[in-house]
Parts: sequence; structure tokens; C-alpha cells
Amino acid sequence: MKLLIADDVDLNLKLLRAQLEGLGHEVVQAADGVEALAILERERVDGVVSDILMPRMDGYRFCMELRQRPDIGHLPFVLYTSTYNSPGDRKLAESVGADAFIAKPAPTDRIISALLAAAESRLTGSPVVSAISEPAPIMKQYNEVLVRKLEEKGLELARTHEGLVQINRVYAVLSEINSLIVRVDDCGELFQQACRILIGTGHFSKAWIGLAEEGIAPVRILAWAGAPDAFFEDLQQRLSTHVPGSPGLLAKTLRSGQPSIANDIANDPAVREKAKLLDSGSLSFALFPLLIGGKTVGILSIHSSRVGFFDDEETRLLLGLANDISFALDHLLKADRISYLTSHDPLTTMPNRVLAAELLTQHLADRDDKLVCVAMVDLVRFRRINETLGRHAGDDLLQQVAERLRVVDPLAARFDADQFVLQLVGRRSPVELARDFERIAHSCFDRPFAIGHDEVRMGCRIGASVSPDDGDDAETLFRNAESALRRARTAVEAFVFYAPDMNASANEALAIESKLRRAIERQEFVLHYQPKVRFSDRRICGVEALIRWQDPDGGLVPPMRFIPVLEETGLIGAVGRWALMKALQDLASWTSSGAEAIRVAVNVSPLQLNQANFTAQVAELVTGESADALELEITESVIMQEVDRKITMLREIRALGVSIAVDDFGTGYSSLAYIAKLPITSLKIDRAFVAGMTASPEGYVLVSSIIALAHALKLKVVAEGVETEEQANLLKLLSCDEAQGYLFSRPVPAAQIQELLLSAAPLPR
Ligand code: C2E
Ligand code: MG
Ligand code: MG
Repeated sequence: MKLLIADDVDLNLKLLRAQLEGLGHEVVQAADGVEALAILERERVDGVVSDILMPRMDGYRFCMELRQRPDIGHLPFVLYTSTYNSPGDRKLAESVGADAFIAKPAPTDRIISALLAAAESRLTGSPVVSAISEPAPIMKQYNEVLVRKLEEKGLELARTHEGLVQINRVYAVLSEINSLIVRVDDCGELFQQACRILIGTGHFSKAWIGLAEEGIAPVRILAWAGAPDAFFEDLQQRLSTHVPGSPGLLAKTLRSGQPSIANDIANDPAVREKAKLLDSGSLSFALFPLLIGGKTVGILSIHSSRVGFFDDEETRLLLGLANDISFALDHLLKADRISYLTSHDPLTTMPNRVLAAELLTQHLADRDDKLVCVAMVDLVRFRRINETLGRHAGDDLLQQVAERLRVVDPLAARFDADQFVLQLVGRRSPVELARDFERIAHSCFDRPFAIGHDEVRMGCRIGASVSPDDGDDAETLFRNAESALRRARTAVEAFVFYAPDMNASANEALAIESKLRRAIERQEFVLHYQPKVRFSDRRICGVEALIRWQDPDGGLVPPMRFIPVLEETGLIGAVGRWALMKALQDLASWTSSGAEAIRVAVNVSPLQLNQANFTAQVAELVTGESADALELEITESVIMQEVDRKITMLREIRALGVSIAVDDFGTGYSSLAYIAKLPITSLKIDRAFVAGMTASPEGYVLVSSIIALAHALKLKVVAEGVETEEQANLLKLLSCDEAQGYLFSRPVPAAQIQELLLSAAPLPR
């Protein structure tokens, strides 16, 4: 057959022509209805195949015109179209006289058989549909279809336009990110800016970039844009609990190194947490791998607020973008390695002087009123290791020292062959620092180092400078620490502060500390006891244990001189426990000698109360009987700290049968509400109030109201520091229950208490 084909799209013409010619037909072609009619005037053909939408004259019109011409009106006519295939289109095709209406793409033989069938029916005399019989309704129908087609075409164009605009945006994103890559020298910055560009220039709804170690989940999100931080924090939370190897698009991209696209979040079964994504305005998203050396090291995730956004073209461009970011990342990581080498000591990987100075400057800026100390640690006779065991052994030793120092200060630095620098921040006094140095020497240098088969012992010297006194910039502090270290090398002490007076106070404190440690070992502490007397008969009804230290060099040391040191060093735990035990022992020996039963009070430090097992310690020491005789004295201000926890603890102690007295009452600003709630048995009025009672009427009124209050709460009242008969008389008048003070007795050794008890005479004697 010889056929005319009409289509405005050249590619369509070529395709159809090739197919028809392949079947052995002859083909002539036209770009629209006008050209087709012109050809038909010249050439004879056996049938026509026409597209519908064509410029100048479309397929409908072409068919109508053809049917009106006597010479060609009989030709078999097929409308072949991809877009026009609604029932309205078919109906119109029929009305204008087309023999068949075939939707593209269709097999060519269907077109041929439609043409043949039409020719056949002409031969059997079936009338050609008369298009002209009722022109008006056809035209109306035709116009309607055209208007609709135009609207559709308009929409399609708009869509294409929008697509083009978006593609242009992606190009703009690519160019902005490429210029960013040239500029930026920090990964965090690169990622953050890239996300911002994707949102700002690219008009994407969200973007985030994350890195995954070893290419496995969980991914750490490092930069994001397009939604509140909370959205990404929540996402990170979910990614962190993500099990490697689990299903899901992210894991797929990490594993395969290929992009994953979810073009319709709402209907994509592979997408999890749909609701969160949809609520946040994402309707589609794509995940692109960041690849270095063929390995997936991260993810670029881009979200769109349109369904079906990520088509082939878009995906190709964005994959290119991800590759650019990967390339920059690789480059920056290599550069990072270089800058790492310029700021670190390669042997120990510790910060070098340059980085240490930066860190110190930061510490100096951040410290509040705390001290910042630079401690320069020098290994004693390190050179000998190098000389006798060799350089290799020396390096090995330095690495081991570095490991131990890093435990003390994670940012410990190495300046010189055997010189390390620690930065100690937040200590309050040179004494605390000196204690740190002792700890460092102990934890880092007491154990030997294993070098090959040898065990090597090392010692250290420390030179320290302290800001603000010794300087407030990094270089000055380093310099002064170095000068202190030079002195330390030849000094008796292993630690030397740059400022001489710091050495004095620190050394004194350290000396006391080491003497106290020895005192514990050698049991140099003693308890003295001060009697408490009843006002009614001035007989001893109890004693308070008061600790002293029998210093072999300095006589009897009062508690206020050493208890604070014991508390600072934590030694108070052991000493306090000893005091409890010793007091109970003394009490037992008094009663077994025939003395009348009395109560014994022991003072308790706040640090003891902070021990979780304090109640258990007490329970272990007391028996039912001695529990009734034991009283714990706790300073008012101490009880009032963390009062709710204290209440619970004191209740447990009370449950053992042990009494509890509030010591130094009046000095701690207790709230009455709490005093009423505390599980206590007595109040000890502080010495200052007792002294003030006889000095002014106000002082008298104050003591009288404390006593009235205590009695109202059913507490026993003990007056401390009673020194005169006048005070004793007034207190008796105010119905105070018991008194303690030099008037009756000073604190005395246990043996003397035994005598007093056995004589059972009123005090003072
Ligand atoms: P504290 O519990 O208020 O003990 C009363 C202090 O006042 C004792 O001082 C005592 O000697 C002194 N004192 C007694 N009567 C008079 C007086 O009439 N006039 C004057 N001026 N002073 C008087 P000491 O023995 O020096 O104890 C001081 C503080 O040390 C005690 O105050 C107590 O808080 C603490 N302390 C004593 N022994 C221990 C103990 O074993 N453990 C704990 N954690 N602290 C203890
Ligand atoms: Mg006391
Ligand atoms: Mg007291």
C-alpha cells in the first residue's frame, strides 16, 4: 500500500515511516493537515494515518476536509494519537468521518488492518460517514474538544515550565556549591552551607548531610536546613537506634552506594515514619551516597514538597552534586590530616605546643573565678634510658608515659623530648593543685614501665604556673612553668610553683596531710570527753566525744586544725568511723567498771553523712543497748543541706535507737517547718547565744524563745559553752534541760570521765 502519514513531530514521522516501510509499504509524509491535503491533490495514496494535534490544520479538520473532496473523500483514514483518547475524542473522530481511532503506541499491523478494513467496507458499499450532514453540532463538539485540549496543553506546558525552572534552580545550586567548595576549608562549614544553598537557591523543602563510619548505620547528621532543629534531632535519634543491615532506603544506599528515591512518600511501602515526613511537608525525597574511594562515607538527603519530583534528569544532576561534595570532603579530610600533623606530636599523638597554647587560651577565656594551672612534667633522667636501652626503648617509654598522663588530663600535651604539659582547670587553691600533683606522681609513676623484657621505674618533676597570679596568657604561663621546672630539677620537693608563697602554703598543707596519713596508721588520735550535766542535780547525764591529735612533734592538736584537712582529703571517713567505734568502746568499759549508764555523743562530719553506707556503718557498730546510749551530733547547717535526703537517712538511724542532736543550733538559719519534720531528739544551743544571753535583753529573749520552741517540739535542750554561774542560773530559770561548758568541766581523757562517773558527785566540784 501507499500511505500518507501526517504528524508534526519529526521523530514520530520517522518512527512510523520506518515501521511501515519495514512491512513493505510505501510512505509519503506531511507535517500538518494543510500539507497533507496538498500532497493528496498531487499523489494517489491508498490510505491516511494522521496525528490529531498539529499546527495549521489538526487531524479532525484534516479528516473533515478530506471527506468533503470527491476525489479523495473515500480514502481510509486512521487517527493515530497519544494524547487524545478520551471518549469525547473518539466520538468526535467518528463524527468527522475517521474510520478508526488508535491510541499511540500501537503495533503497526493494527494500523494496517484498520486501513484495510476501511477499504474493504468501501468496496462492500458501506457509505462513508457523512461529516457534512450535520456540521453545526460537530463543530460545537469539535470546539469543545479543542478548548479542552488547549487547557490540557496549557497545563502541560506549565508543568514543563515548572520543571524547567526547577532544573534551572538545580543548576544554580550546582554552581553555588562548586564555588563554595573552592572557598571553604572545613567540612562542617561545607555541609552546613550546602544544605542552606539547597533550601535557599534550590527551593527544596529540606536537606541534611550525615556521615557514617565504615559506611554502616548509624549515620551522624552533621548539617541540616529546612526544618526546626527538633525535627533533625528526632531523626538522629531514630537513626542512632537503627540496626545495621536493617531494611530501609538509608541502609540500602549505604550498602549499595546507589541513590534511593522515594517519589511518593505517602504511598511508598519502603518509607518508614511516613507521618512524620508528611507532617513536616516532605512529599518525596532522595538519598544520595557520599563516596570516597568507592566507599560510602555519608549521605546527602534532599526532600521536596512535590510528589514525583525526582525524575531521571533531576536525579542525575543531584547525584553529580553529591559527587562534588564527596570530592570536596575527601580533599578536606586529607587537608585535615596535614593540619593534624602540624598541631600534634606524631610519636604520642598528643597536642604539641601550638595546639596546647590554643587550648590554654580557651581555658583562660572560660574560667570563672577558678585557677588555671599549667603543670610541666619532666621525666627524671630520661636521657639515660635513651643512652642505655636505645632510642627505640625511649620512644616506647614516652608513649607509655603519654598514655598514663592522658588519663589525668585528656588534653595533655608534649612539648619536648621528655617534657609533658598538663592543664589543670577549676581548682580553688594551690593546696588542691599540690594534691593533684601528688596524685599524678602516684598514678603515673608509682608503677614501673615495661620496656621489652625490662622493668623501668621513672620519677617526675613538676614545675607549675597558676593563672591569674603567674600570668594570664598562654605564653607567659608556659614560660613561668618552665622556669619553675628548672628550679624543681634541683629542689628537694618534686613540685615547684612559680610563685614562692604558693610553694610555702602548698608545702605546709602537704606536710600536714602526710603527717595525718601517718597519724591514722599509727593511731595517734585520741578522744577526750566533755560532760553534759542535768540542771536539776548537776550530775553527769552524758558526755560528748571530742577528738584530738597527739602529734609526736607538736603536742595535742585541737580538731579545728586538722578536721578540715581530713575532710578535704577524704580521710575523715576512716577517722570518723574510728571515733564512733572508740567512743562506744570507752562507754562499755565505763559501765563495766560499775559506773552509772550515761549517753555518749559523737560528732559527725557532713562528708560522713554523704556516704551512702553511713547508716549501715552505724548499724554495724551498735548493739541494741549501746544504740540507746549513742547520740550523733550534726551541725545545723549540714542537716539543712539536701534536707529531704537527710530526713530519710536520719529516720533510718533513729530506727536503730540512736539519738540525734542538732549541734550549734542558731547558726544555720533553719526553717521551723523543717525543724518540726526532722527526726531529731535534742537541740544544742550554740555557745555564742549562751554568751550573748547575759550581754543584752535581746540575747536573753532569743535563748528563752529557742528553749520554748524546742520544748513545744518535744525536744530536749542542751546549752553549749556555759562558763559562768550567772549563765547557768538563767538557763535553769528558762527550764533548759542540760548544760555543757567549762563551768562544769573541760573536755578530759576517758579515764577521768570514769572517775567522775564513779564518784557520782555534782559538778563543778
Ligand atoms: P562542737 O561539737 O560544737 O564541740 C564543742 C566545742 O566547744 C569543743 O571544741 C569544746 O572543747 C568547746 N567548748 C566546750 N565548752 C566550752 C566553753 O565553755 N567555752 C569554750 N570557749 N569552748 C567550749 P573542740 O573540742 O575544739 O571541738 C571543736 C569542734 O570540732 C567541735 O565543735 C566539733 O564540731 C568538731 N569535732 C570534735 N571532735 C570531732 C569528731 O570526732 N568528729 C568530727 N567530725 N568533728 C569533731
Ligand atoms: Mg558537738
Ligand atoms: Mg557545738
